[in-house]
Amino acid sequence: MALCRCQICGVKKSRSKKNYVTTVDPIGYPNAAVICGIAKCTNPAKVWLDDNDLIDYQNGLRLFGKTVTSMVKIGVV
Ligand SMILES: [Zn+2]
Repeated sequence: MALCRCQICGVKKSRSKKNYVTTVDPIGYPNAAVICGIAKCTNPAKVWLDDNDLIDYQNGLRLFGKTVTSMVKIGVV
């Protein structure tokens, strides 16, 4: 499941069971509408991909929305 975090907040390994391996830019980054998911942070977010997301990305997937609620979709370049 892709996460949206700014480069400052990042993804803390101790808080995540997933292995986030890389980041990709949302379309329009850093002027994109995707904002860091950490409370009180308003920085533009990158999209953090785990192992499975990276395989999807390498196979051409550019729309990530596999969240628990599927309420957010994130376009990436
Ligand atoms: Zn942040």
